[in-house]
Amino acid sequence: MTDSLNDLYRDIIMDHFRYPRGQKHLDKVDIKTEGKNPTCGDELELELKIDHDIVEDVSVGCKGCAISIASGSILSELVKGKDLQEVKKIARHVKGMLKGENMSDNFNLGDLEALKGVKDFPVRIKCALLSWTALIDGIDAWEHKEKAKVSSTE
Ligand code: ZN
Repeated sequence: MTDSLNDLYRDIIMDHFRYPRGQKHLDKVDIKTEGKNPTCGDELELELKIDHDIVEDVSVGCKGCAISIASGSILSELVKGKDLQEVKKIARHVKGMLKGENMSDNFNLGDLEALKGVKDFPVRIKCALLSWTALIDGIDAWEHKEKAKVSSTE
């Protein structure tokens, strides 16, 4: 392992990897989505409980490498208690950050800052993105369904 790769696996990432947050399955699930990253073998299951467009609770079940597990764990801490529009904004910001785009820094990304270095390791970017891509897909599908519900009762 090279030194720069060692830098990547910083304490924060290892802590989230060893003790992933938000692993408990939810009693009520409004959004359920899955993600796979075949290049690395990471697999992810994401559950969200929604109340009035607020993420009440999150569950992230991830099997895979340290980066994918840490990213999912950090996700569960970041999105809890936020409304869906805010969550989507954060997710888009994270995607931009990991792809090395110049992002305006008006988000407090907490532990996610530790994953910034991943952008220098192209093979790892998909690992870090896995949970965030699944999150956006899940919310989009849910919003689509909710809209259909509204229009069918009109
Ligand atoms: Zn991975």
